[in-house]
Amino acid sequence: MARYTGPVCRLCRREGTKLFLKGERCLTDKCPVTRRGTAPGQHGAAQVKKNREYYMQLREKQKAKRYYGVLERQFRTYFEMADKQEGQTGANLLCLLERRFDNVVYRMGLAESRNEARQLVLHAHFTINGKKADVPSIIVKKGDVIALTDKSRDSEKVKSLLELMEQKTAPKWLSLDKNKATATVVALPDRDDVDFPFQEHLIVELYSK
Ligand code: SF4
Repeated sequence: MARYTGPVCRLCRREGTKLFLKGERCLTDKCPVTRRGTAPGQHGAAQVKKNREYYMQLREKQKAKRYYGVLERQFRTYFEMADKQEGQTGANLLCLLERRFDNVVYRMGLAESRNEARQLVLHAHFTINGKKADVPSIIVKKGDVIALTDKSRDSEKVKSLLELMEQKTAPKWLSLDKNKATATVVALPDRDDVDFPFQEHLIVELYSK
């Protein structure tokens, strides 16, 4: 499946905000958003000053896509799914994105970034309900149990990630067993579980034109 492979800090600078795509580095003063704060390119500084309605809506959609590492077609599919659900479409959309398998691995604390979580999933380090699962876009359901495979536990890379997991706190919709490195989806996430200040109504307005 296609994905963005260019420099990720550029994406944050384009959106004018930290999207936390690089793990620990995002929390240091090496972060380019902290150091420069302007959009990339020759006219970057001028672009930040734009404030037109369409521009704001487009930027909010791009921000969400980049935060969760989703490309346009798939993001549109999530929007259509969210629109068919009961409740507010924007909140539904963010909750669907939170339920992506790669995001769940990130939320378990087993990866420093969603991109790293995606790589771990693609390399078949996990099972869902005891079955091998290597598709990052799987949407988890209430009651699903996500676990490391036995083989993966012996890998040096995963051992260091398990140490990372010890320091992280999972969201309330995931029940973590840190000893077994498993997570159970005990509830579906709601809007309050999304810890980025998205203005999702702008995304809904954009797609409703
Ligand atoms: Fe974004 Fe992190 Fe790079 Fe800062 S360090 S620009 S938050 S990816």
